Amino acid sequence: MAKRGVLDTFNLAGKTALVTGGYRGIGNAIGWALAEAGAALIIAARSLDKAEQAVAEFKEAGHSAVALKVDVADYQSVQQAIAQIEGNIDVLVNNAGICYHEAAVDIAPERFTEVINVNLNGVWFCSQAVGKRMIAQGGGTIINIGSMSGDIVNRPQMQPAYNASKAAVHHLTRSLAAEWAPHHIRVNAIAPGYINTDMSPVDEPRFKRYWIEDAPQQRAGHPTELGPLAVLLASDASSFMTGEIITADGGYTLY
Ligand code: NDP
Repeated sequence: MAKRGVLDTFNLAGKTALVTGGYRGIGNAIGWALAEAGAALIIAARSLDKAEQAVAEFKEAGHSAVALKVDVADYQSVQQAIAQIEGNIDVLVNNAGICYHEAAVDIAPERFTEVINVNLNGVWFCSQAVGKRMIAQGGGTIINIGSMSGDIVNRPQMQPAYNASKAAVHHLTRSLAAEWAPHHIRVNAIAPGYINTDMSPVDEPRFKRYWIEDAPQQRAGHPTELGPLAVLLASDASSFMTGEIITADGGYTLY
């Protein structure tokens, strides 16, 4: 192997990265990080308008980006969306996700199913469709956005469907990593703690006591703090890592 400088191993120039739910929150921050590392972006969202607005901002900053309409929970939508993409897909970031705060006894069956459909089946549908492309093209990297909720039970809010979905995402990550390693596809996950986005209202007093004051770093994370981890996992900088779940939670799960 030709010797490369350590920072060169993070370089994503010439690579194309698809980020689901990439127009806001964590997905958007990861998009900016991957673009800065040189990747061309495909911003996938349920709303094409919102994806296009984000794409306009990436282009304004000099990056290469296109918008893609996809509902990750809908198998046909994923098939159609991936079929539209010409050329290689080198990096897939399965970021799209939803969460409801509901106690187990109150959850309607369709709500439980909705969470599983987006958070688990969405990861599965996109991974399978893109994985086939990666096998044909000779390799790639997949990054699943799991959660510390895949390992712990959050409080004070109850969210059993979400917790189960993220635990499944972590083990699907390991399963696909083992199965696709011979195809030069690496599959890893990031398990964030509380990150300040629309999904996690970190400043609400009823949550702050548990989410922030109980945590070692006593703060929420910022979406941009996950960008460097995504670049690491997307690039050759992590060439000997697969099936790994990297927790980034400010120490929350230490207690
Ligand atoms: P946001 O609610 O800000 O963003 C979620 C994104 O997912 C939105 O772009 C949303 O688009 C998209 N999405 C939801 N359902 C679908 C679907 N069916 N098809 C396509 N896109 C969809 O949340 P975050 O940025 O915080 O969350 C991103 C990921 O990080 C999620 O997987 C979440 O579980 C995970 N995470 C977040 C944590 C946090 O504290 N914020 C902690 C741990 C993990 P739309 O507008 O169409 O709904």
